[in-house]
Amino acid sequence: MPRKTKLTVTLGPATESEEMIGKLIDLGVNVFRLNMSHAKHEWASEMSKRIRRQSDQRGIHIPVLFDLTGPSIRTGTLDQPYDLKEGDIVEFREENTAPQLPISTTVNYPGLMADVKEGNTLVVDNGVLLMRIDKVEKDRVHCYVKTPGVMGSRRHINLPGVRLNLPALTEKDHKDLALAVSCKADYIAGSFVRDSSHVRELREAMEALEGEAQIVAKIEDQEAVKNIDAIIHAADVIMVARGDLGVEVDFEELPILQRRIVKRCHELGTRVIVATQMLESMISNPTPTRAEVTDVSNAAYEEADSLMLSGETSVGRYPERCVEAMVRISSRIERSGGLGYGQNVLLRDERQKVARAAVTLADSLPDGRLVVLTRRGVLANHVALLRPKTAHFYAFTPKPVVCRQLSLTRGITAFQISFAVNIEETIMAVTEHLKELGLVRPGTPMVIVSDILSNHFAANSILLHHA
Ligand code: PGA
Ligand code: MN
Repeated sequence: MPRKTKLTVTLGPATESEEMIGKLIDLGVNVFRLNMSHAKHEWASEMSKRIRRQSDQRGIHIPVLFDLTGPSIRTGTLDQPYDLKEGDIVEFREENTAPQLPISTTVNYPGLMADVKEGNTLVVDNGVLLMRIDKVEKDRVHCYVKTPGVMGSRRHINLPGVRLNLPALTEKDHKDLALAVSCKADYIAGSFVRDSSHVRELREAMEALEGEAQIVAKIEDQEAVKNIDAIIHAADVIMVARGDLGVEVDFEELPILQRRIVKRCHELGTRVIVATQMLESMISNPTPTRAEVTDVSNAAYEEADSLMLSGETSVGRYPERCVEAMVRISSRIERSGGLGYGQNVLLRDERQKVARAAVTLADSLPDGRLVVLTRRGVLANHVALLRPKTAHFYAFTPKPVVCRQLSLTRGITAFQISFAVNIEETIMAVTEHLKELGLVRPGTPMVIVSDILSNHFAANSILLHHA
């Protein structure tokens, strides 16, 4: 039985060899992510080539996701890290200003002083250091250290609940975006997207470079959560970026937010990735903790399109074991059922209603196959969103880029085929293709849904065909 929950894996020093990329594909990876916060340009384009070569060799379609850094706020460069105690006062000042306190660092976002208020929380290094902003001046803030710890150079700063006036894309993002487009990225992710205009800005910049990528919006703070509906409408895929989101909200809110976002993506018709720390302990250990097994299982149970690994596969000691664990856990929970948010999808147009009818029909046929003929992948994604029960769910499309993009979508296996002038011929070719792969036998019922042209008519149609 094909697995429905797709697996997105971040490449890094632990997994960069071409041989390893091939192994990971064989183990079941569906999407490769390149994290531009760490990747050099030459490295990223070499990785894209290796991924293409290894997937071509196997005759399967694997997309590359370029994850842009986004406008992250960071501490400055220090000669030596500060070992901070509770009660210490730390100064964060604009670049090119002189320190006024013994413990002082610059911050790369000059708008910070205008955005924050006294009493706001400032978090350094992904939750390691908690501080309270005690004094705000034109070019600096003073913070009271609440939890002790070490503050190093270029550490990430979060400001929970603060509305930041950061741009959507930095200069570096624009350069990385140009690289992504030249590498023919299938997906481009925007980090710290806070409203729908940020998603549109990224899409427009990508389209101006004539890229064909789909846009992933990473939900990383409270502002994005507030604007979630508009962001879901504007993006092709949502990522629940639990790393930053878990610092930006009280941690007990995180599971509730994850579930709400996954549910809302189902209702509004956008795909969703659950990301970060799914198997964190496996960065150094060969087996997952019980809590991690349960977390991965829950996300697969929520029927997210894809689950994601980051450090586990980019720098971890056991990348292959991590992929195996994800595959085992998600395959197992799929056999026991899912949460069923696919029932909540708001059917807005006729095409979505046709998709619903096809899914109902396919699910009612024992041993039925569900086949979508799709040009841009839109109909295939509509059908997938309804979370058909059958694991035999195939999309056929003429465009390789659409094949690759559908690799992220829950439940779909995509094949490339050119469409004939009339639909009967296309159906014959599809049936032959599935027979050759041993995926249908003579007589297997196939529900075929399409909105492609047949003899110059664009018609939504559902066909029950026997192989
Ligand atoms: P990052 O995003 O890994 O690029 O920080 C994901 C997250 O914050 O969870
Ligand atoms: Mn993040």
